[in-house]
Amino acid sequence: MEKEHVIIIGSGPAGLTAALYAGRAQLNPLVIAGTQIGGQIAITAEVENYPGFFNAEEPPTGPELVEVMQKQAEHFGARFDYDEVVEVDFTKGPPFYVKTWGKEYEAESVIVTAGASARRLGIPGEEEYIGRGVSYCGTCDGFFFRGKDVVVVGGGDSAMEEGIFLTKFANKVEVIHRRDELRAGATLQQRAFNNEKISFIWDTVVEEVVGNGVVQGVKVKNKKTDETELLKTDGVFVFIGHFPNSKFLEGQLAMDEEGYVITDERMRTSVPGVFAAGEIQDPHFRQITTSVGQGAAAAMELEKWLSERE
Ligand code: NAP
Repeated sequence: MEKEHVIIIGSGPAGLTAALYAGRAQLNPLVIAGTQIGGQIAITAEVENYPGFFNAEEPPTGPELVEVMQKQAEHFGARFDYDEVVEVDFTKGPPFYVKTWGKEYEAESVIVTAGASARRLGIPGEEEYIGRGVSYCGTCDGFFFRGKDVVVVGGGDSAMEEGIFLTKFANKVEVIHRRDELRAGATLQQRAFNNEKISFIWDTVVEEVVGNGVVQGVKVKNKKTDETELLKTDGVFVFIGHFPNSKFLEGQLAMDEEGYVITDERMRTSVPGVFAAGEIQDPHFRQITTSVGQGAAAAMELEKWLSERE
């Protein structure tokens, strides 16, 4: 059993900022980073709304920001283990038990920043064609759709942002939305409406992904008329929100009915000594900027909690 003072679970903006703050507070934190450092921004093409990193011609990419954030945290003493947490026991701590695929730890305090993952449609054909035309990440897979037709499912900021990004590669991007107005913010809406490669199919849901080894189309249904049709397409990009990565915390921390970890305004969970920050506890804002702030707050509270105990 390895003994740690501070374990940070997750390495998105919340985790990396918590690591920076805990590092600067001389707490020598260990970040259990998961298999991909950076979380969701690691698969974000351009970041235009992170203050201090502005370049109108060439906005920074998500991976560029992650690299700087990690270097900064390491500079102040944070260490990284590229493993995944598979089990925790917070019921008897501190010290709290944390198990990864490779190691077992005892930690005096923990910050959980395991983030969120893309929600799936849950329709026939979806699972079957993941990686063969169905995708949840335009940045990762857009390149494979050069000169092809794709559909985007969803009407939020992610759907618009990714849909616009996909026009760099695809011939045609059809946005299928279940209502007749978008949820996305005004700026992204306008940009999508102005983009000649993007068209909209309103009041429509996707009922099935069809293909023959690779995606060939989607069966869609108009919610107002109940009419169904088969729409030909080469790719199905789904952006319908996220769910928190909190399965491994079930029974350990108080959560809401959707699985988001409940924290108070000081990022404290239901277990003293365990804090949470970022999208695992925030279904509302889900921004790099807000996650960064929550990560900083969690580390400051953790430092206070540790010093009061000692
Ligand atoms: P979101 O805002 O929750 O939007 C999800 C979209 O998917 C909605 O339009 C929703 O329809 C639709 N949807 C949900 N379930 C569906 C289903 N089963 N079938 C069909 N459609 C479904 O999610 P998001 O776009 O991922 O954004 C999440 C948060 O991140 C937001 O706060 C957003 O502002 C933020 N974000 C910001 C930026 C940026 O600022 N640049 C970029 C990306 C994300 P309804 O509209 O009918 O509910």
